[in-house]
Amino acid sequence: MNVSIAFCHPSGQWPDTDSADPQVVVHMTSSLPETLRVRFAPSPTGFLHVGGARTALFNWLLARKFGGQFLLRIEDTDRQRSTDESTRAIFEGLEWLGLNWDEDVVYQGANVARHAADAHRLLESGAAYRDFTTPAETERLRAEAESRGDVYRFDRAQAMLSDEDVAARLAAGAPYAIRFRVPEGHTEWHDLVHERIAFPNKDIEDFVILRSDGTPVYNMAVVSDDIAMGITLVMRGDDHISNTPKQILLYRALGAHVPQFAHVPMIHGTDGKKLSKRHGATAVGDYQHQGLLPQAMLNFLALLGWSPGDDTEVMTLSQLVDKFHVEGLQKKAAVFDTKKLECMNGQPLALIPIAELAAVVAPMLEKAGLATVAELKAREAWYHGVLELLRVRARLTDEIVAQARPFFGESVEYDADAVSKQWRDAAVTADVLQATHEALAELPSWDMAAMEERLRTLAEARGISGGKIFQPLRVALVGLTVSPGIFDVLYYLGRDRALARIAAAVQYLRAG
Ligand code: GLU
Repeated sequence: MNVSIAFCHPSGQWPDTDSADPQVVVHMTSSLPETLRVRFAPSPTGFLHVGGARTALFNWLLARKFGGQFLLRIEDTDRQRSTDESTRAIFEGLEWLGLNWDEDVVYQGANVARHAADAHRLLESGAAYRDFTTPAETERLRAEAESRGDVYRFDRAQAMLSDEDVAARLAAGAPYAIRFRVPEGHTEWHDLVHERIAFPNKDIEDFVILRSDGTPVYNMAVVSDDIAMGITLVMRGDDHISNTPKQILLYRALGAHVPQFAHVPMIHGTDGKKLSKRHGATAVGDYQHQGLLPQAMLNFLALLGWSPGDDTEVMTLSQLVDKFHVEGLQKKAAVFDTKKLECMNGQPLALIPIAELAAVVAPMLEKAGLATVAELKAREAWYHGVLELLRVRARLTDEIVAQARPFFGESVEYDADAVSKQWRDAAVTADVLQATHEALAELPSWDMAAMEERLRTLAEARGISGGKIFQPLRVALVGLTVSPGIFDVLYYLGRDRALARIAAAVQYLRAG
């Protein structure tokens, strides 16, 4: 799709910002750059937010689909707020989701000297100038403006000094900030999501690029790093739209190629308000620890602001790579619905290859003290069989772990409701369970068809329904009224453990 818009300049021929035609217009089409280098640039000031993970995923999908590179830059220039813990959470979250990055991680804080050098380059070329205004002077100007009933606005004319004045202040060692000289005209780009976006430059004040303490501001650092990293497409949240004209002006003034931009929509809760903790967990790590599968999280994140253009809702990562395209990115805010997320989790839980599920659940079982990863590996066929039974009833891997408990360990706890419902008459139940124990113990092999036949015969002989045996038996085996099929449970518990559980129940009921 080639979108032509007003003020077009042939690509590559930039208008001179000082000429009579001073607009800056970049990227008139929605075609992707030929060499695709994208990045995810989180600030490590908290956990990995679902919105950040979504931005990372979109960038990753683009890179993987179109054979580009996906880079990771940790924007740790805010020393007060950045923490190593948060950087680790970003790595862990991306690794859990399988969003692998190319090349070494770039730490923005390590490049401050380059950011400052770029700001000085702009100073030397005249695209920026020194501002010696002290904070006290700014305060005075602000107070004056307010006393006149005006809103304070930075005024270039007040800040600009004569060459002699500048030299004198420099000689006296007066501190100064470096400000970018915003040219006249307007700045416009073709956003891959929002299409044409234009800002009149008169609304952008001459912004500081290097503070008087020598530290670069955010926009300077980002542009300097994106140039150094060879980024050709910047995809990020649309809360950054107002930074983009400033960044475009900086690229241009530095004589660098301007990347394309794609601003993806914000994420709201189901009430239409900006996503916050009120709407449920917003940290990717929380979902990981709740036992959500990374596949489900990825599928869910992908649909926050993107649509494959058909009704497909459930997609594997490779299907997402296959279907992903910027044309499916939406302008309107995306809605974060945790119910949908849980529901989506049920799909991959039921569908992913059992070995993959086994690998996710094994460390969880170990953490719960039920079995070590090594023990599970040693009994792999059995372990996979148990998972097959449990995964159809679970939406979260946590639920699998809870339901797996009876298959491990020597004893079970009897749930009070299950006891009062299924073991109402202790003497009769003990008698039925004793007969069940004898019938099963006689079986020559621990075979499901033989168990079923034997227990149905027992029910008939006693003139009771099968359920009158199976329900109390279930409580004896798992302590609950619900479980996978009773013969599956008997089979996967194994002969010794199953018979021991029934004997223990009989003893419990008779002691009662
Ligand atoms: N560090 C910024 C953030 O976390 C992202 C900057 C960018 O993508 O340009 O919002």
